[in-house]
Amino acid sequence: MSEQRVYIRPEIAILPAYKQGRQASAEAFKLSSNENPFPPLPGVVEAVQAQTSYNRYPDATALAVRAVLANRFGLTADEVHVAPGSVAILHELARATSGPGDEIVYAWRSFEAYPGVVTVAGATSVQVPNRPDGGHDLDAMAAAVTDRTRMVIVCTPNNPTGPIVTAAEFEAFMATVPSSVLVVLDEAYAEFVTDESAVHGHPLLERYPNLVVLRTFSKAYGLAGLRVGYALGPAYVLEAVRACAIPLSVTAQGQAAALASLEREGELLERVAELAVQRDHIVAELREQGWAVPDAQGNFVWLPTGERTAVAATAFEDAGIIVRAFHPEGIRISIGEHEAVETLLETARSLVGDLQVAD
Ligand SMILES: *Cc1c(COP(=O)(O)O)cnc(C)c1O
Repeated sequence: MSEQRVYIRPEIAILPAYKQGRQASAEAFKLSSNENPFPPLPGVVEAVQAQTSYNRYPDATALAVRAVLANRFGLTADEVHVAPGSVAILHELARATSGPGDEIVYAWRSFEAYPGVVTVAGATSVQVPNRPDGGHDLDAMAAAVTDRTRMVIVCTPNNPTGPIVTAAEFEAFMATVPSSVLVVLDEAYAEFVTDESAVHGHPLLERYPNLVVLRTFSKAYGLAGLRVGYALGPAYVLEAVRACAIPLSVTAQGQAAALASLEREGELLERVAELAVQRDHIVAELREQGWAVPDAQGNFVWLPTGERTAVAATAFEDAGIIVRAFHPEGIRISIGEHEAVETLLETARSLVGDLQVAD
C-alpha cells in the first residue's frame, strides 16, 4: 500500500523552525537570547504564585493589563492589545494585513522572526540591506514601498546590529509612506535606549494613523519565560489583530506578572540602567581593542566577525560564553551577568588581530 504524505504548503516545507539561542550548560553564560540576567523581583514571583486557578481559562483580553498600559500611555484600552509575546503580535499583524501577492518590507539583517512571520501569512518579504553602520536605510526602505506593500517593519534599536532609528529619520520616512500602509515600530528594547535622538513610538501615535508600536515584557522587564507583549495603535487595527489571535493565549500568571512588574517599574528600570552602563563599557572596550562595533542601544552588542564568525563563536563557547552567530556576518552578544564581562573582553581581544589579518 503506498502512503501519500499530507500536503504541506511548499513555502512552509522549506521554512526553518525558529532556532533558539543555544541552551547553556550550568557553568556557561548564556548570552545568546538577549534575556535579562536578573531574576524576577520578589513581588512579581508572589503575584504569579497567587494565580492558582489552573482549571479556569484566563481573561481573554487581558483587560487589567490593557487598562494600566492605556492609562500610562494616554490611550483607551481598545488602543492596547496584549498577546503572548510581541512575536505573536507580529504574526497577527501580518495575517491581518497581508496575504498572497502582498509585500512586507523590513530591514536586513534584522530580527530573525520577521522572514517566517511574512511567509506564514502567505505574503512576500522585501528585505532592504542595512547601512554599513548597521542602522536601517530608511530612504531605501521608503523606495521599496510599492502598491503591493501592506506593512513595513522598523526595528529600533535593530536586533541584532544595535543602532536606533532617530526621530528625524523616522518622521522623514513616515512622510513618504502612504497612510494605507501599516508601519510597525518594533521597540522590543526601548527601555535600554539612552541616545536622545532616538525615535519613541507612543507619542507619535496621535500623528500617524497607520502606526502600531510593539513593546514587550520579555527583555527589560525580565519576563521572557511568561510570554507577554503588547501593541499600541488604532482601535480598528487592533480589533483586526485580535480577530487573528489564537484566543486565551496569555495566561493569568503572565498577566499577573506584567501587572506586578508595572507596579515595581522603578526597581526594574534601575536594573535596566545598570545593564545600559555595562553595555556602554563593553562597547568602549571593544572599540579600544580595534573592533568596529556599531552603536549599541539594546541589551546586546554586535561584533562584525564576517567570514570568521564560526571560529569566533567557537572561541567564545570554549571560554564559557554562548553567543548568537549569524554566518557570515557577525556575532550578537547579550549584556548579561557582570561576571561574564572580563572573559568576554579577553576572548574578543584574542580574536581581533586574527580578524584584521583575515579581512
Ligand atoms: C525579543 C524581541 C521581540 C519580542 O519577543 P517576545 O518575547 O515575543 O515579546 C520582538 N522583536 C524583537 C526585535 C526582539 O528582539
